[in-house]
Amino acid sequence: MARSYVYEARKRVGPKRERIRPIIARLKAEHADAAIALRFRSPLELLVSVMLSAQTTDVNVNRVTERLFAKYRRPEDYLEVSVDELERDIYQTGFFRQKTKSIRGTMKMLLEEFDGDVPRRLDELLRLPGVARKTANVVAAELGEPQGIVVDTHVRRLSQRLGLTRQDDPVKIERDLQRIVPRHDWGIFPHLLIWHGRRVCIARSPQCAQCVLNQLCPSSRV
Ligand code: SF4
Repeated sequence: MARSYVYEARKRVGPKRERIRPIIARLKAEHADAAIALRFRSPLELLVSVMLSAQTTDVNVNRVTERLFAKYRRPEDYLEVSVDELERDIYQTGFFRQKTKSIRGTMKMLLEEFDGDVPRRLDELLRLPGVARKTANVVAAELGEPQGIVVDTHVRRLSQRLGLTRQDDPVKIERDLQRIVPRHDWGIFPHLLIWHGRRVCIARSPQCAQCVLNQLCPSSRV
């Protein structure tokens, strides 16, 4: 019974390859303001912000980095203070010991291998200590050169509800999305899903009646 319901729903909305462009167009119209919520003024600040954002909110990170970036301006600055001092300065973002270790390791590698600059290639970003795929994808996209598609909890939930993937693993979801999302939209696409996920397709209570995608979504409840 459940299976035939899913089948009918998928049949009603049509194949994902035909739905993806109208989905993106409607989301762009609906969330014209969709963008990264972290505040930064340079590639280095972007990288640090994204590293600090693990397991906490962007609002919390912005609160901490407002002071942090006034004090730490170059990769060297993160290495010239003691571990204790950096830990104290980022304490409020949580997991401060691990984050301090990752940030210091990353700054060291930036200085030793990248002339103190933040690399733009995904494979180079992934070599930085403590920089996982999601962080690398966010940084590359915000620097204007997306080489993948960021998959966070919202992107995962919405991709599944919209029938764009049947996978649960973020790497496999990313692969499915890369096959159908036009390359020039790889950077904006996650922001659109994240904002739609926060405002409309909420985890526990999706607002399908108010959703601009309800004619294109096999999970629509209306
Ligand atoms: S129709 Fe409902 S389930 Fe589908 S994307 Fe919109 S809010 Fe989410």
